[in-house]
Amino acid sequence: MLVVEDLVLAGTNSVIEVSVVSKALFHLRPVEIQIRQNWCKGCGICTALCPKKVLALDDRGKVVVVNGDACTGCKMCETHCPDFAISVGVMPT
Ligand code: SF4
Ligand code: SF4
Repeated sequence: MLVVEDLVLAGTNSVIEVSVVSKALFHLRPVEIQIRQNWCKGCGICTALCPKKVLALDDRGKVVVVNGDACTGCKMCETHCPDFAISVGVMPT
């Protein structure tokens, strides 16, 4: 079982991005979730729709990754976020 997770934080005055790269336990395809927290308005659509409970809102009302290894790369969060605050990349194996 190989699990790779790397947390990268990068910030400027206008953009804060959080990237989580994980190699999920079962499909073994690296998935990268990028969150632009300053674009997130905390509506909770992505947290409600994620079938694997990968996402949650923090105490500031911003979405965060809480269970990155479970992400399947389905992109439900990306396609339904009204503010384009999430990007999900499924990398080739
Ligand atoms: S759907 Fe978009 S705006 Fe709403 S909580 Fe998720 S990331 Fe934030
Ligand atoms: S890509 Fe799918 S499994 Fe991964 S965080 Fe988004 S909704 Fe959840």
